[in-house]
Amino acid sequence: MAKRDYYEVLGVDKSATKEEIKRAYRKLAVKYHPDRNPDNKEAEEKFREATEAYDVLSDDKKRPLYDQYGFAGVDGMDQGGGAQYSHAFHDFSDLFGGMGGGFEDIFSSFFGGGSSSRRRASDPSQGATLRYDLDISFKDAVYGTKTEIKFQHNETCETCHGSGCSEGSSRKTCPTCGGVGQVRRNAGFFAVQQTCPTCGGTGSVIEKPCPACRGKGVQVKSKRVTLTIPAGVDDGKRIVIPHQGDAGENGGPAGDLVVILHVENHQFFERDGQDLYCAVPVSMVQAAIGATITIPSLDDKHIEIKIPAGTPHGKMLRIKGEGVPITGTTRKGDLYIKIMVQIPQRMTSQQKTLLEEYSKLDNATTSPNLMPLSSLR
Ligand SMILES: [Zn+2]
Ligand SMILES: [Zn+2]
Repeated sequence: MAKRDYYEVLGVDKSATKEEIKRAYRKLAVKYHPDRNPDNKEAEEKFREATEAYDVLSDDKKRPLYDQYGFAGVDGMDQGGGAQYSHAFHDFSDLFGGMGGGFEDIFSSFFGGGSSSRRRASDPSQGATLRYDLDISFKDAVYGTKTEIKFQHNETCETCHGSGCSEGSSRKTCPTCGGVGQVRRNAGFFAVQQTCPTCGGTGSVIEKPCPACRGKGVQVKSKRVTLTIPAGVDDGKRIVIPHQGDAGENGGPAGDLVVILHVENHQFFERDGQDLYCAVPVSMVQAAIGATITIPSLDDKHIEIKIPAGTPHGKMLRIKGEGVPITGTTRKGDLYIKIMVQIPQRMTSQQKTLLEEYSKLDNATTSPNLMPLSSLR
């Protein structure tokens, strides 16, 4: 099959800039990449063709040779075989690195994290961070408490001290990948780097596993920790207990235990940040002529409240310093009391007579003007 001109393959002018060539190739590479077109010979050929064209036209040495002598000018410049596209390989990360989105996904099998993801078995690594969800009462969240939590985590195996090997044995080089941690798989013409399935990329395998941990180097253990919950915490608060997560490997530090607090609702009190809210029923007469009432507080004490004469229904009264403690300080938020004026549903005849007497003195009209809904409190 006759070769197509490289400029034609990429669909660019002979005078195209490097940036234009790069852009044209990027489009084709995404469209025809083998990962996106499995078992599609035509796409595979198009991808190979575009890669070859890009390999030459993006190269400051090869492009002038190609311009002058055509294919003859660049043939045989590479070592042939698999190495032919090695240059394009490098440019992939350059092309798609930092673009974000789908490109990393498409090419992850080629450049997946590169050398940074390759880890040797002897490298120390930190253990996993564990999450513990803890329900606490509304009152405990406001005033603080101490509680014991029980959880399971991985601890370093006492028998093998984390190596995973039985006594007197050690790890040996992985026979599948020869210690590299990666294997090459042929996907059509293209060789794809993959994490070695035998050693999981570590490059070594355990010859005789430790019988206590079956080669894992860690054992699942139950643990109890006493947790101090400070006063004033809110729903969703995270408390980090350092180094109580899973054990690290090869001397790496243990992960943390993160306790996430879930605060239960209270029957009467609600909370907005450091302020507490509750509703208090008051008779219409108390609201009209004023009264002093006593209500229970969240911590089962009693709070005396003065209801001023003429307090309307829905009025919010603020009681300073009776709210939630502000964590780490001696200050507290406020308590807001919503006055709910109660209208008697049943009255004695004497009460009714008195109210009728009152009504006569009140000059209440039977044809009032309307008032805006927003004036309702
Ligand atoms: Zn062990
Ligand atoms: Zn291996």
